Amino acid sequence: MEDCIFCKIAAGDIPADKVYEDETVVAFRDLNPQAPTHVLVIPRRHIATVNDLSVDDEAVVGRLFTVAREVAAQEGIADAGYRTVMNCNEAGGQAVYHIHLHLLGGRMMHWPPG
Ligand code: 5GP
Ligand code: ZN
Repeated sequence: MEDCIFCKIAAGDIPADKVYEDETVVAFRDLNPQAPTHVLVIPRRHIATVNDLSVDDEAVVGRLFTVAREVAAQEGIADAGYRTVMNCNEAGGQAVYHIHLHLLGGRMMHWPPG
């Protein structure tokens, strides 16, 4: 999709510190990390929000989580624990309208989130 920053990262048109990629998903470090490990896992295909998901997207959403699991292991945060979160729309705190699974770890996470 034109003018979508995460589509451009997936296509390699703008740089990102990628930690994993395959034909379905790309994972890269957040530009403004909120934890020692802060990686975003995205589908290559543009999906704007969780509200836009259909049953046809179930496999790709599952892939976001299995890649997050792999990256967590690579980063050495799997056993200590980490947080995965996907924000939806304004009240959910979404800023980039191409779905992305945040993987946050390397420090204690607090609950409830702000
Ligand atoms: P959201 O608020 O939509 O859930 O999260 C968007 C995330 O994308 C933020 O944590 C923000 O720091 C990150 N981000 C925004 N633009 C870029 C970018 O160009 N490159 C990278 N690596 N991260 C970005
Ligand atoms: Zn996009």
